[in-house]
Amino acid sequence: VIDDVVVGAGIVGLAHATALAKRGRQVLVVESSPRAEGASIRNFGMVWPIGQPEGVLHQTAMTSRCIWEELAHQSGIPLEPCGSLHLAYHEDELQVLTEYAASQLPSVRRVLAPAEVLLHAPFAVENGLLGGLYSLTEACVEPRTTLWELPPFLSRSMGVEFRFCTTAWRWESGTLHTDTGTFSARRCWVCSGRDARALFPDALPHNQLMPCKLQMMRTAPMQQRIGPMLAAGSTLRHYGCFARCPSLSAVRKRFAEEHPAFDRWGIHVMVSQHASGELTIGDSHEYGDAVSPFDRPEIDALILEYLRSFFNPPELQIAERWHGIYLKHGERPYVTAEPTDDCMVINALGGAGMTLSFGLAEAVVSRALGENDAEL
Ligand SMILES: Cc1cc2nc3c(=O)[nH]c(=O)nc-3n(C[C@H](O)[C@H](O)[C@H](O)COP(=O)(O)OP(=O)(O)OC[C@H]3O[C@@H](n4cnc5c(N)ncnc54)[C@H](O)[C@@H]3O)c2cc1C
Repeated sequence: VIDDVVVGAGIVGLAHATALAKRGRQVLVVESSPRAEGASIRNFGMVWPIGQPEGVLHQTAMTSRCIWEELAHQSGIPLEPCGSLHLAYHEDELQVLTEYAASQLPSVRRVLAPAEVLLHAPFAVENGLLGGLYSLTEACVEPRTTLWELPPFLSRSMGVEFRFCTTAWRWESGTLHTDTGTFSARRCWVCSGRDARALFPDALPHNQLMPCKLQMMRTAPMQQRIGPMLAAGSTLRHYGCFARCPSLSAVRKRFAEEHPAFDRWGIHVMVSQHASGELTIGDSHEYGDAVSPFDRPEIDALILEYLRSFFNPPELQIAERWHGIYLKHGERPYVTAEPTDDCMVINALGGAGMTLSFGLAEAVVSRALGENDAEL
C-alpha cells in the first residue's frame, strides 16, 4: 500500500504530488491522457501574484512563486522572472494604477513614467502612453514543456510514480479503481480539472461551478525579448486586486461604451513570452455549459486589434490558435471537499491555477495531514 494516489497530472495534481513527495511520502499519479492536455498546458504560463487580492490569496501566490523557483532551479525547466507591466493609455487607467500602487512597496511595484516604461518594454506603443505599473513578482513558464517535463523530474528526484492512459473511476475503502487496474493507497487526492463529475459527483457544489472557455493564440518564435509580460487597461477590469481602486468604475464604464464586445465575450488582453521566444496572446471568457466547442474568429480579431493598441513588435504572425476550459466557482477562488476521511477533492482554481497551485497544495496537504488546522 502506497501513501497517496493523485488523480490528474494537470498543475493541481502535480502540485499536490510535489507537496506530498517532499514530505517523504510514496506517491502515484494517474492521468487519463498519454500526457497532460487540459487547462494546464493551454494557458499563458503566467505566475501572476499581482492579480491576487492582498491577504491570504496573495500570500498563497507568493508561496507558489517560491516553489516554482525552487523546482525550476532543481529541474532546469525554464522560469523567466520577467515581472509584469500594466500599461495606461487613458487618464482613468493611470489613475487606477496610481491608486493601486499607493498601497504597495515601491521597491516591488510602482508606476513608471512613459520613458522608463519603454526602457523595460521596448515594444510598448509609445503614442499616447501615460505610464505603466511595473511589478517584479510575476514569472513566466512555458506551460507545455513544463507540464510534460515535471513528471519525469518528480520521478527522478522524489520517486513519484506516474501511470498515464489510466482513468480513475472510483475511490473506495483505500482502493482506486481504474480502467487499467486497482491501486491501494492510504489517501486519494482528486485533481481532475473540468472532468469534476467523474469521481465523487456529489462532492463539489456543481450548481455554483461554471466552465469557462478562453480563446488563445501563439506566434512563431520572436528573436527579441519583449521584457515583462504585458497587459493594459482591459485587464484592470479582470483581476480582483484592482477592485478596491475608486477609479476602476470609470474604466469599466468607458470600456462598456467604447468596446461593448469586450464585455460580451469577456475579453481582456495580455501577452507573455517563453524562453524559446514565442508569444502567447489571449484571451476571452465565455461562461456556461452551452458554450460552443468551436472558436470564434471575431474574438481573435478583437484580441489582436486591442493588442496592437499597446504592443508593436516587429512581427505578429499567429502560428497556433486553441481554446482552454477551466472550472470556476461563482464566489470562491477554488474549491476543496473531503467526501471521505481519506480523500480530498481540489478543483476550480479558475484563471489562477498556475499562480496558486503550489501554494494551495502546501496548505491543503499540511492541513489534511494534521500539521496545522489553518482554514482553507
Ligand atoms: C486559456 C487559459 C489561460 C490561462 N492562463 C493562466 C495563467 O497564465 N496563469 C494562471 O495562473 N492560470 C491560468 N489559467 C488557469 C489554469 O490553467 C488552470 O487553473 C489550471 O490549469 C487548472 O489545473 P487542473 O490541474 O485543475 O486542471 P487540468 O490541467 O485540466 O488537469 C486535470 C487533469 O486531470 C485528468 N483527469 C480528469 N479526470 C480524470 C480521471 N478520472 N482519471 C485520470 N485522470 C483524470 C485530465 O486528463 C487532466 O489532465 C488559464 C487557463 C486557461 C484555460
